Amino acid sequence: MNSALSILGQRTKEPPISWLMKTALEHPGIISLAAGFTDNPSLPLQEAREVLAEILSNPQRGQAALQYGSTAGDPELRAATAALIRAADGAAATDARYQPDRLLLTHGSQQFLYLVTEALCDSGDVVLVEDPTYFVYLGIAQSHGLRCRAIQMEPDGIRLKHLETVLDDLKHTGAIKRLKFLYLVSYYQNPTGTTTSLAKKAGALELLRRYEKAAGHPIYLLEDAAYRGLRFAGPEVPSALTAAKTARVIYTSTYSKPFATGIRVGYGLLPPELVAPVLRIKGNHDFGTAHLLQKVLADAVRSGRYARHLAALRIRYAAKAAVMKQALERHFPTGVAWDEPQGGMYFWVRTPKQLRTGPNSKLFKRAVAENVLYVPGVFCHADDPIRKKPDHTLRLSFGSASEADIQTGIERLGRAMA
Ligand code: PMP
Repeated sequence: MNSALSILGQRTKEPPISWLMKTALEHPGIISLAAGFTDNPSLPLQEAREVLAEILSNPQRGQAALQYGSTAGDPELRAATAALIRAADGAAATDARYQPDRLLLTHGSQQFLYLVTEALCDSGDVVLVEDPTYFVYLGIAQSHGLRCRAIQMEPDGIRLKHLETVLDDLKHTGAIKRLKFLYLVSYYQNPTGTTTSLAKKAGALELLRRYEKAAGHPIYLLEDAAYRGLRFAGPEVPSALTAAKTARVIYTSTYSKPFATGIRVGYGLLPPELVAPVLRIKGNHDFGTAHLLQKVLADAVRSGRYARHLAALRIRYAAKAAVMKQALERHFPTGVAWDEPQGGMYFWVRTPKQLRTGPNSKLFKRAVAENVLYVPGVFCHADDPIRKKPDHTLRLSFGSASEADIQTGIERLGRAMA
């Protein structure tokens, strides 16, 4: 008998995250430096308790919060979120790009990424991604049958020369007609920790604009700023919205990392022509993100609890990053290199070429035997037919592990490498 599954149902592969979680579960006591979870002890327990009590002790507010909301999201939180992005960018209150009616609240920024992909892409379409990129996004692309082209990275973001080469190539083969957007994880990137400079964002937008004629439609820049709030060093870099002479920027971020991953509310700002299409698709998905959780956030932002919590969190992550850095210096053999992040939750490590890091490598097996888990870098590279995937990198997270576990975990991994 044939399978009853749809093409998408058949095509969608098991995401590497499931395999990593399974490996962790099979080895109780393993120290996971792989998980993208945030720091448990600093989750806003008291803030959430207070806010929930405030909402639920008032019958009118409580009942409204326990009722369905709207597809686009709670008006107060939409306005507050748009204002936060605008303030971070130093833009004027009248700037059309930050108007709340362009902002959608979603179930995590993950849902926003999915909705935008569904609104813009058909199977066979092309998207440009960083090399490496956020591996869960690669799952969305794979599931939808998209063709990814990977753009090389430099310390301040994608290599514009390479972007131009790839755009030229797409033009010559005609595939430019299927190119929909460039996806950038622009702040303390997952997985490399790299932050894209404003000059690179502006340069990328300018290049995309030049190829629109050949494409015959707009080519967007999808800026994923999931870690923007978690800056602990370096300057605040403005978003691509500020660089845009064109209105081609789609901007997304989340309350997951700066507040609580368990609340799982994300958001996105859209160019005007995309608001209704994405909203209609969200209507079919869920006709609105959990209303109570949006109310919790609206209250946390209004009362100042959110800002205070985030300020403390940045100090906390700076300290954890410092612990991981010291442990790396102490325990990793010479020849192994890493980039130091200025925010976010990740260190990206490069091993010598002969020391492979993939899921079937000796190192990975040895690490699991030593009871420590990392994300093999190979998961973060798109299936680009033009280049072979590098297999000598790995991602380490200082998000969820305790300071003691970070130290022990790195010591074990150093032993496995040696
Ligand atoms: N983008 C990036 C780069 C991420 O790392 C994550 C979470 N790991 C997300 C988006 C999605 O997060 P959420 O859905 O919780 O907002």
